[in-house]
Amino acid sequence: MSTSEIYDLIIVGGGPGGFSAGIYAMRAALKTVLIEKGAPGGQMTLSGEVENYPGIERISGPDLSMQFHQHALSYGLEMINAEVKEVEPGLEYHVVHLDDGSALRSYAVIIGTGGSAHKLNIPGEAEYYGQGVSYCAVCDGFFFRNKTVVVIGGGDSAAEESLYLAKLAKQVYMVHRRDTLRAGKILQQRIKAECKIEMLWDSVPVAIKADAQGVSSVELQNVKTGEHRDLKTDGVFIFVGFSPNNQLVPSGIDMNAKGYVVTDDKCETNTPGIYVIGDLRQKYARQIVVAASDGCTAALAAAHYVENKKAAESDSCQLV
Ligand code: NAP
Repeated sequence: MSTSEIYDLIIVGGGPGGFSAGIYAMRAALKTVLIEKGAPGGQMTLSGEVENYPGIERISGPDLSMQFHQHALSYGLEMINAEVKEVEPGLEYHVVHLDDGSALRSYAVIIGTGGSAHKLNIPGEAEYYGQGVSYCAVCDGFFFRNKTVVVIGGGDSAAEESLYLAKLAKQVYMVHRRDTLRAGKILQQRIKAECKIEMLWDSVPVAIKADAQGVSSVELQNVKTGEHRDLKTDGVFIFVGFSPNNQLVPSGIDMNAKGYVVTDDKCETNTPGIYVIGDLRQKYARQIVVAASDGCTAALAAAHYVENKKAAESDSCQLV
């Protein structure tokens, strides 16, 4: 096989981590391709306002996604819009299989496939998805101008999305299963100060109900009293956490009990030349800036790995 057919680096996933890796890889002159199955930006595209990416006071998630994309394009990063079916580790090179049956080879692979929203798995949730049930305020909030919406969850996502929805909706009910929010302190203060948001503590949704127009109410249960009530609403936005998208992580790579991949400080897994970045990687904070930082680290480490690999290969050729 001709080594010219082998990429130095394949990046799987076009979120902030993937694009950051792409930028650093191009600057390190690695022959690189980034593969993304959806729109550039990953989960970032679902964020209303991003206010904690250093150097940018405030920007919408979709706009920040486009800036990452444009920045990577400016370095000539090759991108393929396709779904990766498998990452197959190898000793000489790794193989990335695509949904059209083709396969790409590379010395190093960076996997940055992020995570996905958790479901409540209650009656009505799947049935009325798109008819009032949503997991993305930025995508669907517009349809609820001057209407009533219920947000489920008490974390950063639920808090941010409630604040976003409060700009559009007439009334936002935030339903949380405990009596204190998990969300950070600044978000908690903003929630308290927003008169359109009413907190419903110690409550969980047990069913979502609809009429011919779509969602009409959510049945709540108070976890302390056991009491049930029907809360009228036009929409239900669900933000109850997420799980890592680890389906492409090859078997044999270490993961923790929650399915996050364990890496060293270079973002390298226990399989040499395979790196994991962003929300898929076990770490303390899952933030855009951290994913971007992971992308940088992994690309620099991959550059070093590829250089050593090629040097070892040319040494062994000279010995023959
Ligand atoms: P999260 O922090 O895991 O919060 C999930 C929330 O949903 C919690 O309040 C949890 O309640 C509640 N919940 C979970 N399962 C539930 C169920 N079955 N029924 C009712 N409620 C349920 O998830 P997240 O808000 O999506 O955030 C994920 C990560 O991204 C976090 O690390 C977060 O800091 C980060 N993030 C950061 C930002 C930002 O800083 N700009 C924005 C978004 C997300 P309990 O509290 O009782 O567990």
